Amino acid sequence: MPAITVDDLTVLPRLKAPGLGDQPRPVWQVTTAPQGYEGEGFPVRRAFAGIDMLHLDPFIMMDQMGEVEYAPGEPKGTPWHPHRGFETVTYIIDGVFEHQDSHGGGGTITNGDTQWMTAGSGLLHIETPPEWLVQAGGLFHGVQLWVNLPRDSKMNDPRYQDIRSSEVALLTGADAGALVRVIAGSVDGHAGPGSTYSPMTLVHATVEPGARLDLPWNVDHNALVYVLSGSGKVGATDASAIRTGQTAVLGSGDYLTIAADEKQESRSPKLEVIVVGGQPIREPIAWAGPFVMNTKAEVAAAYEDFQKGRFGLPIGG
Ligand code: MN
Repeated sequence: MPAITVDDLTVLPRLKAPGLGDQPRPVWQVTTAPQGYEGEGFPVRRAFAGIDMLHLDPFIMMDQMGEVEYAPGEPKGTPWHPHRGFETVTYIIDGVFEHQDSHGGGGTITNGDTQWMTAGSGLLHIETPPEWLVQAGGLFHGVQLWVNLPRDSKMNDPRYQDIRSSEVALLTGADAGALVRVIAGSVDGHAGPGSTYSPMTLVHATVEPGARLDLPWNVDHNALVYVLSGSGKVGATDASAIRTGQTAVLGSGDYLTIAADEKQESRSPKLEVIVVGGQPIREPIAWAGPFVMNTKAEVAAAYEDFQKGRFGLPIGG
């Protein structure tokens, strides 16, 4: 798991340990992601399936793509398709992904890079491994998070943020037992590079075997912990066991606790988690396929605009 790694955690800025009066976030629910296939056939775990949308707000869904070792000729992507009304955030841990959209955004991302695409009023895009990787095969692992947009931002012009691994804020826990990568939002005053329409935080943390991370978390944000790989516990006084492919939904408080089991499987020697949270938007959601709007009429209008070619045209297609 390359993403971005650091040999000596003790040199990183340390998060403050919980103080007297700081409340740990309770564990409300632990769910297990169903596995399936997306696009032209890459394996995904649908991380937030089975969680009430009220608890996810401002997030819509999240897929763990892979981890998969492709044979030569096998890597899969998605064909050109539309989106409107929300953002797709693609974080690549291993492998390479190319992205192109009808609004002129796009680029190549690899180990630890993020593409933050605001679909806004609408675009077409394609997400695929580069041709050379298809020929050669190889490891592929990433995450795609769907972030809802507030009503007054849904029809904004599309926007594309290309966030490189070198820009991500790197921190460690109070006892230097975890690597905390802040991609967007801020943790204990340390801000990540991603720009968001509503307040939110996106973190990828790696917890060493036997170590414990107390992660300060904005009290106004909800909190979801998804395990990419490994096993451990989430929660302080009410610690719940959690493992690869499971999500913990946390209640309110000042910080959350993630502890890695002493013994991990050799194929995933550390506990790898995505932690996301945001200030809920609290607006009605009408979601159908690639469109996330506030009303059914707006979704119907999105389908009509797409069919009439108003989302632009595939590039080079
Ligand atoms: Mn897409």
